[in-house]
Amino acid sequence: MSYKVDITIIGAGVIGLAIAAQVGSEDREVYVLEKNETFGQEISSRHSEIIHAGIYYPEGSLKARMCVIGNRILYELCERYGIGHRKLGKLIVATSDEESGELQALLEQGQRNGAQGLRMLSKPEIKELEPNITGVAAISSPSTGIIDSHALMKHFVASARGKGVQIVYQTKVVGMEKVANGYELSVEDSTGTFSFTTRLLVNCAGLQSDNVAELAGIDIAKAGYQLHYCKGEYFSVGRGKSTLVKRLIYPVPSASFTGLGIHVTLDLGGRMRLGPSVQYVDSIDYTVDSQHKSLFYDSARRFLPFLGYDDLEPEMAGIRPKLQEPGGDFRDFVIRDESDKGLPGFVNLIGIESPGLTAAPAIAEYVGSLVKEQLGK
Ligand SMILES: Cc1cc2nc3c(=O)[nH]c(=O)nc-3n(C[C@H](O)[C@H](O)[C@H](O)COP(=O)(O)OP(=O)(O)OC[C@H]3O[C@@H](n4cnc5c(N)ncnc54)[C@H](O)[C@@H]3O)c2cc1C
Repeated sequence: MSYKVDITIIGAGVIGLAIAAQVGSEDREVYVLEKNETFGQEISSRHSEIIHAGIYYPEGSLKARMCVIGNRILYELCERYGIGHRKLGKLIVATSDEESGELQALLEQGQRNGAQGLRMLSKPEIKELEPNITGVAAISSPSTGIIDSHALMKHFVASARGKGVQIVYQTKVVGMEKVANGYELSVEDSTGTFSFTTRLLVNCAGLQSDNVAELAGIDIAKAGYQLHYCKGEYFSVGRGKSTLVKRLIYPVPSASFTGLGIHVTLDLGGRMRLGPSVQYVDSIDYTVDSQHKSLFYDSARRFLPFLGYDDLEPEMAGIRPKLQEPGGDFRDFVIRDESDKGLPGFVNLIGIESPGLTAAPAIAEYVGSLVKEQLGK
């Protein structure tokens, strides 16, 4: 039996697009199906746009490995294709002796992970680099930076199309069934519902990736694939304060590690914002609650003494697709071919939260190798 479609990728966020650019090739029929009007309308357009270094994640985890490799590849892509970016560097700042003790363990973990150029700074060294912040010690991470993530996605779209990949918008995958040597997909677009057969299927459906896995008959509770939505709000910092720091400034993360702590980000236009916060929610709602302003102010004021309450304005929010339950342990990315569940050639990517943007090109290479194994070419 010959297949019209070799590979179908569900979702045109940064992950699906990076994979499309990786697996596209003249001798393969590859489709990306996206339910929205265009690419990158969900998680991939509501985040901090930071190229992370790979400090926080447990050694050997996919998050650590993919982040460190992705960091290197992203800078190479940015240089080669003129994608907007700045290697600003970042400081993780301790404001008490207790936090200072935690920094050492974090530094060692980052070094074991292979994050580049990390070093501990003393109080005078912090003052020299960032005279306007307060800290007793800090980790300097020179390979952390910022990127124009829309331009990155545009690059992946162009690269994928250049290799013959078809990206189809306003097309939602609503069903799938295992058939001999592949999957029959049911798809809904403005004209109705139709189906076709694909040999391989790559689930990059972001916030809906657990539901998409379920469509294939996977018991997501048993597999540990159930997602928990976790909202991150941002507040902009106005009134001319944006120029008072030159780097990204982070606090020491909490032990539960649900996020990196409310931190200072700068965008390519030099605008400063605080965020993201961490709030488990039941549904997708991007409004920012202005009553959360004092939480942002109190968190950031510890290391940003120049911050005034009136400098902060609600800006935007994103939703993390978390596998980690509230109060639960660290969970890694799920990136796997489901042959052991009787679904060979069905590759699931679930729980691709931060550092997913940084890791995207490394994840794409990894999925590319899984695809090669399945296709045998
Ligand atoms: C608040 C926040 C801050 C972050 N900050 C950073 C950061 O600074 N640095 C970093 O490296 N990472 C960061 N991340 C993580 C990063 O943004 C994500 O890992 C990445 O964007 C995930 O991309 P994705 O393609 O998996 O998901 P998405 O961009 O959501 O794409 C999934 C796509 O699948 C589509 N889809 C879903 N179901 C279907 C279906 N049935 N049929 C067809 N299409 C479907 C959706 O419409 C969507 O477009 C952050 C995340 C958040 C939430």
